[in-house]
Amino acid sequence: MKALVLEKPFRLVCKEVPTPVMEKNDVLLEIETISICGSDIHAYLGKQALYTYPKIPGHEICAKVAADKTNTFSKGDKVIVMPYLSCRECAACRHGKGNCCENLRVYGVHIEGGLAEYLSVPKDYILKVPEKIDAETAALIEPFAISAHAVKRAQIGYGDKILVAGAGPIGLGVAEIAKTYGAEVVIADTSEDRLCFVRENFEYEHTLNPMSEDYREQIKDLTKGQYFRRIIDTSGNNHSMENNIHMLAFGGRMVYVGIYKGSLQIDDVAFHKRETELLGSRAATYEDFQYVLKCIEDKKIKPEKFITHRANFSEAEQAFKEWIEQGTKVFKAMIYMK
Ligand SMILES: [Zn+2]
Ligand SMILES: [Zn+2]
Repeated sequence: MKALVLEKPFRLVCKEVPTPVMEKNDVLLEIETISICGSDIHAYLGKQALYTYPKIPGHEICAKVAADKTNTFSKGDKVIVMPYLSCRECAACRHGKGNCCENLRVYGVHIEGGLAEYLSVPKDYILKVPEKIDAETAALIEPFAISAHAVKRAQIGYGDKILVAGAGPIGLGVAEIAKTYGAEVVIADTSEDRLCFVRENFEYEHTLNPMSEDYREQIKDLTKGQYFRRIIDTSGNNHSMENNIHMLAFGGRMVYVGIYKGSLQIDDVAFHKRETELLGSRAATYEDFQYVLKCIEDKKIKPEKFITHRANFSEAEQAFKEWIEQGTKVFKAMIYMK
């Protein structure tokens, strides 16, 4: 089969590779569309610590069932992949938290990914989606599930004022999902490109830039001095993650989704006075995928609005280069296999 192999940083090549061999619980999928994630970009740039070369990237997948050894699906079924394989043996797995499995293996990061004609996936990691949901919307269910998981961790109540730090695809996904819980969302990002995209395409009353000198004053005003009951930080930026403690209401909860590769320094007085609840959020569960699917069916979210760039598989090598150069102007890019 044809696949896009990332042979080393900055070298993505289309080549012939063996079609995956199906294990006994596997379903063979013919890839339809695949959206490009920040982690694929990081692998391309050589900045993804867990990635080893050469490997096929890609994990945000919509596919058709090509063959099924388990007789769970029918040939031609439209499906998506929950791309994090858990070991089912570690402490996290035994406590029903396979999303933070000690030995988590992610397609396109630890194992061969989906930027190829076929991928073989264990049946338990596949969800059928209704035919009426188009293939590009379906591919975006995975990043939205990451967002949905973070929102679930935050335990948002109706009418809560929340801050979403970072307006990339995960951050905007968090904002959109939080609205389905009835939250009033304020979005913050240091990138004006990102804030412009949000302002032009979505309805948020307040989009702030943390670089502005009176950032905390702005927040104080618009929360009437109460600050935020919930903060979900998707930035992966240490300054944001450290400073946001000062934007949190007393008794509030903060969730880190974006990962900073290093140590954080948090003002412990600020942390303690608030009796802060601080949580991490990793990957997503089957229920998160189902929640996103339901939101799409109920038309509460429209993931396709995230897509700014598209390419066919045959143009993907070149398109990747261009998308990298355009940086934050590319919000979400989609590759079509046919
Ligand atoms: Zn992703
Ligand atoms: Zn495990």
